[in-house]
Amino acid sequence: MIRIRGLAKHYGAFEALKGIDIDVAPGEFLVVLGPSGAGKSTLLRCINRLTTPTRGEIHIDGQPASDGAASLRRLRCSVAMIFQHYNVVPRLSVEKNVLTGRLGAMPSLLSWLQVFPRADVAIARECLRRVELEDKAKRRTDTLSGGQKQRVGIARALAQQPKVILADEPVASLDPKTSRTVLTYLKQASRELGITVVCNLHQIDYAREFGERVIGVSAGRVVFEGAPDKLSDDV
Ligand code: ADP
Ligand code: ADP
Repeated sequence: MIRIRGLAKHYGAFEALKGIDIDVAPGEFLVVLGPSGAGKSTLLRCINRLTTPTRGEIHIDGQPASDGAASLRRLRCSVAMIFQHYNVVPRLSVEKNVLTGRLGAMPSLLSWLQVFPRADVAIARECLRRVELEDKAKRRTDTLSGGQKQRVGIARALAQQPKVILADEPVASLDPKTSRTVLTYLKQASRELGITVVCNLHQIDYAREFGERVIGVSAGRVVFEGAPDKLSDDV
C-alpha cells in the first residue's frame, strides 16, 4: 500500500531523513518507533506531502506521490491524519468534528457551517460508535477529556474512509491507561476496516504491545525492522 525508496529530507544543511526504504502492506498496522527528533514526524509529512522530500520516491496504492494537483487531491482523499494534539475544533460539536472528515483534509471555515447530507451524518455516527462516543455526539468537543478528543480524532479520520491513516504520536499527550484505550480503538478500526495504519510512537512498551511490525528510526535512519518481540530495550 505504501512503498518508500531512498527517502531523504533535508532542512537546510540538516538531514532529518537520510535515505529510508519502507514497504507497508495493505491493512497492516505498522509502528514507527524512535526518540524525539528521530525524523518520524518528517516521514509522515513526506508520505502525505505536507512537505516535499529532498530525494526519493513514495508510491501509495500504486500511484506515485508528487506535488502535482491531481496527486495532492488523491492523497487528501486516501490518506487521513491523526495528530498528537488532536487538532479538533474546540467549539464545534463532536459530530461536526467527525463530519469535517467528509470534507477532505482542509475544510474552509464556511464549510463547517454547512448542513451535511444525511448519508454523511450516518457515516459520522457509525465512526463515533466505533470509538464508543455516540452518546457524546452533540457535546461541544472542548468539554471532552484528552483521550476522548483523540477518539474524536480517530472517528474523524475514519469518516474520511481512507485507505491509509498516518498517526503522529497519537498518545504522546495521554496517560498510560488512556493511551492503551486509544491505541486499542485505532488498531481495532484498522483490523475491522482493513485500513493501513502507520503509527509513530516513542514508547517501546506500546510498540511491543500494539505493533504488528515495528520500524525503529534513529537520527533519520531505519535501525530496526521486525516483529515487536524482537525489539531490544536499547532501540
Ligand atoms: P520526530 O517526529 O521523530 O520527533 P521530527 O521529524 O519532528 O522528529 O524532526 C526530526 C528532526 O528534524 C529534528 O531534529 C527537528 O528539529 C528537525 N526538523 C523538523 N522539522 C523541521 C523544520 N521544519 N525545519 C528545520 N528542522 C526541522
Ligand atoms: P510535534 O512535537 O507536535 O511533533 P514539532 O515540535 O516536532 O511538533 O514540530 C512542530 C512544527 O515545527 C513542525 O511544523 C516542524 O516542521 C517545525 N519544526 C520542528 N523542529 C524545527 C526546527 N528545528 N526548526 C524549524 N522548525 C522546526
